[in-house]
Formats: sequence, C-alpha cells, structure tokens
Amino acid sequence: MFYKKNEWDLLNEILLLTEENLLIQKENLLLEKHHAHILLESILDPIFTFDNFLNCIQKNSSFQKSFLLNQNINPKEQKLWNIFKENELIQKFKKVVEDNKIQTLNNLIINNRYYNFTITPVYTHTNNSNQYLCICHDITELVLINKLRVDFVANISHEVRTPLTSIKGFSQLLQNAKKSTDSDIELPLSRIIYNCEKLEDMFNRLLKLSIIESQFSITKIMFSFDKLIKLVKSNLATKYPQKEIKIELDSEFEIFGDELLFDQLLTNLIDNSIKYNSNKDIIIKIEHELSLDFIKIIITDNGPGIDKDQLGRIFERFYRVNKPAYEGIEGSGLGLSIVKHIINKHNGQINVESELGQGSRFIIQLPLK
Ligand code: ADP
Repeated sequence: MFYKKNEWDLLNEILLLTEENLLIQKENLLLEKHHAHILLESILDPIFTFDNFLNCIQKNSSFQKSFLLNQNINPKEQKLWNIFKENELIQKFKKVVEDNKIQTLNNLIINNRYYNFTITPVYTHTNNSNQYLCICHDITELVLINKLRVDFVANISHEVRTPLTSIKGFSQLLQNAKKSTDSDIELPLSRIIYNCEKLEDMFNRLLKLSIIESQFSITKIMFSFDKLIKLVKSNLATKYPQKEIKIELDSEFEIFGDELLFDQLLTNLIDNSIKYNSNKDIIIKIEHELSLDFIKIIITDNGPGIDKDQLGRIFERFYRVNKPAYEGIEGSGLGLSIVKHIINKHNGQINVESELGQGSRFIIQLPLK
C-alpha cells in the first residue's frame, strides 16, 4: 500500500529544506565575516570603516592601539571627530561623504607618528555611498630614515667645506709666493685650485639640495614671473659674456610659490639651456597656459637636445650625460635634481620633451593655490 503525501507533508519538507539552506547560508556568512576579520587583522596599518554620519563602524586592533588607547571614548559613540582632533582630516572625511570620491592626506602627524591617509567609498547603494574605508599608512620609519639621510648629507657637505676652503687658500698662497722659476709647480697648483673649486661647487649644491629636502614647509607668495626671469637673465649674462642670450616670454604673469626657490630653479634650468648650447645666439622661449586649478610653464631652448634614452634619468642625483661635445662643461649632475625637488615642494610636476638636435622643452605644472 502506497502512502500518498498530503500537502502538509510537502510543506513540512519544503520548510525543512529551507531551514537547512538558511543554516548553510548563515554558516557561510559567519565564515565570510571571520575571513574579513582575519584580513582586517592581518593588515599591520590601522584601518577602519565609517558611515555617512562619521560613525566608526569596523576597525582592526592596530587602529585601536594607534588611536584609541588613552582616549576615553564610549565604544557605542565612536564619532570620528571624537577620535581624531585634526581638523584637516575631519574635513577629508566629510569631503569623501559629500563627493563620493577617493581622498588622500599625507604626512599627518598624530601622537608623534607620521601617517598617509587614503579614504575610499566602498559600498554604493542606489548611488548613495554609505560606507567608507580608511587606510592609515604609518610612514614614520620612512620619514625618519629620510631625515637621517638628509641630515647626514647636509652635515658632510657642511663639514667638508672648511678643510676644502683651507686647501684652496693655502694653494693660492703658494701660487702667489712661488718664484718665477718654479714653473714645474705652476700646473699642479692650478689643478689643485681648480679641483677644490669643483668640489666646493658640488658640496654647495648638495647642501642646497638637503636644505630644500628637509624644509617641511615653504613660504609661498604671489610674485611676478617676468621680473624674476629678468633678474636670472642678468645674473647669467655676466657668467656668459660671450653669448647673446634672448629670453622670449609670451606675456607677463604671476605665480604663487616660494620666490627664492624659483630663483634657484630658473637659474638651474636657464644655466643648462646656455651652457650646453654651442650656438652663439641662445634663444629661450617661455610660454604659459592657465587652467582652472593649474598653471603650465613651458621653457624651450634651441640647444643640442637630449637623447631619448637619457630623458628618464636626467633628474636623478649626480646623473650627467657623457658625450665628447660636453667635455669641459662644468657640472655636478645635481642641477635638475634640485629643480625637481623644488617642484615637488610646490606639489607640482616637471617633465621634459626633447630630441637630439631639436632643443629641449621643460614643462612645469603647478597648482594655482
Ligand atoms: P649638470 O650639473 O651636469 O648640468 P643637471 O642635473 O643640471 O646637471 O643636468 C643633467 C644632465 O642633463 C646634464 O648633464 C645635461 O647633459 C642634460 N641637460 C640638462 N639640461 C639640458 C638642456 N637644456 N639641453 C641639453 N642637455 C641638458
């Protein structure tokens, strides 16, 4: 005799199956949550998520250790402005909620440590992002090592200058005191003086580079670019009396930056445009383009140009292009490295475009504010 299932039995079976499925799903969810927790904990940098109202939702233990220790904050009321006192950072949290776009904030010091913050919208629901992930990358060791390097170079450059000046001074004294018959020491003495001057120049530049690198903030003002160009040109004209230097500026304009650093930058760029140029007439064109947030300054010369293979390297410290035509041209390979650091300090960018025999174009992009 067959037992015929009635509707109640069927319903019971379906319910049992559904319960089984729900249990599996619950287990999977718990497993996923566990994996997410392991992932979060395995990241050594502080990391956390927050909602539209700046409530901190999830955090790893590194976050707790870095920002919550010694703070008396109610665990249920973890508003970001109670955890972080840095207004700049709070503004970034608000901005990411408003714009739903990644925000970054670098070199922020909290509890004597340096952090780079990256805040990303992670979950979008009907186009309204309502969760955000913040990674606080601890760069303290990197900053300290860099500071050590910069201080070391600055100290060495500073210390070397005194003995160097003394060698040069005594050599000049010997040169003046020698008898007219001592022609055999004339050459070695002048070589000593020449090399001392070369070393002096190199250490002066290294010191300048270290000072720029270690400068935490720069003094920005609005200044006239064309006036500065005139000053740089007149200084360089006395250095190269045999050259005819023409600097063509598209129009007068102002920029927002550190004027002293820009004096250094333009001197290095224009000095290169003159010294590597074998033409008698040196023509340097300076053009500028304004956009909403940036100013672009393009400096073009009629020099020998730079080989495509070398373009990626000329901003490196001590890098010099070696070619017979440049024999005897003084330089330390630090000029463009100083230029690049000055641009970095202004949060800008510098690129070069060139072809052999076609001159060089240095393109600087600077934020307007
Ligand atoms: P240096 O002290 O040797 O001039 P820089 O860092 O200023 O060092 O420049 C690096 C190299 O880039 C130079 O050795 C030179 O070969 C090349 N260079 C820089 N500017 C120019 C230019 N305007 N025209 C041609 N070559 C250039």
